Amino acid sequence: MLFLTVDTDVRQLGMDSGNIWMMPNKDADEYYDNALNTDISKGEAFEGMFISCTTLKDPTSFDGKHHCFEAITFIDYSAFENFKDEKEQRSEAYLKFKTRLTEKMINGMDKALPGISQHIVHAELGTPITNEYYINTTLGNVYGTEKSLKHIGPFAYKAKSEIENLYLCGASILSHGVAGASHSGVDTAAIILGKHPDELKKPREGQLLQIYEAEDGSDYPDWMLKKMEVKKARAISKLKKEKVH
Ligand SMILES: Cc1cc2nc3c(=O)[nH]c(=O)nc-3n(C[C@H](O)[C@H](O)[C@H](O)COP(=O)(O)OP(=O)(O)OC[C@H]3O[C@@H](n4cnc5c(N)ncnc54)[C@H](O)[C@@H]3O)c2cc1C
Repeated sequence: MLFLTVDTDVRQLGMDSGNIWMMPNKDADEYYDNALNTDISKGEAFEGMFISCTTLKDPTSFDGKHHCFEAITFIDYSAFENFKDEKEQRSEAYLKFKTRLTEKMINGMDKALPGISQHIVHAELGTPITNEYYINTTLGNVYGTEKSLKHIGPFAYKAKSEIENLYLCGASILSHGVAGASHSGVDTAAIILGKHPDELKKPREGQLLQIYEAEDGSDYPDWMLKKMEVKKARAISKLKKEKVH
């Protein structure tokens, strides 16, 4: 997964607040089989990529100059087997491999958004090793710990841990992904509060969930406009300070 910051108007390059799913024009099973069975250090660019721009999805996070991207591709863990037992001080070989994969990701992005590689301010690649290190997911995947038949339903981790007053929730507990993490959060809160989860899901009078269109700011409330203004003003002031020093 590549985190990229660029300093250009990415709308001009064809990006909007949606996602780009870039796939080669071939049978999907064939593509996935290939992706799992190729030497990923080879080749000029990743063929299949998911690209999203967080600063266009959430305009309150845009500082007026820098756009942030998350780009993902599908790979097999085996490419990282050699590095899995390394300590925090990573080997030269791992870092070189990361640089190579970063180049391939950027080349892939250039295909979807021509010229984006000319505007990179920051690029940081996360690999399965990164996920293992920070969140210890099974084989460094992005959806949490393994969910085999031994890890779901009655066999799943429990919200109440063996340690007094320590409760668990999230994608690694009940079920994976956003839906799994959300259900788990409600269930755990219900256990702590001694209520049924359904009780917590009942809407309260006056409770409002607002969703605003990322592409159309015409009905943004004042607090949101203010937040956007402050974010941009802070970025300008930071840039000015950097110029002085
Ligand atoms: C690129 C990507 C794409 C995905 N796409 C989808 C999708 O399309 N659909 C889907 O259902 N799921 C998707 N997922 C999976 C989904 O995002 C996760 O399963 C879900 O967000 C996990 O929620 P969580 O609350 O368990 O953990 P997280 O969202 O990871 O939250 C954990 C929080 O704990 C914080 N934290 C960590 N350590 C500490 C500490 N020591 N002290 C304090 N705070 C700490 C972290 O900063 C983080 O905010 C995707 C994941 C990735 C990475």
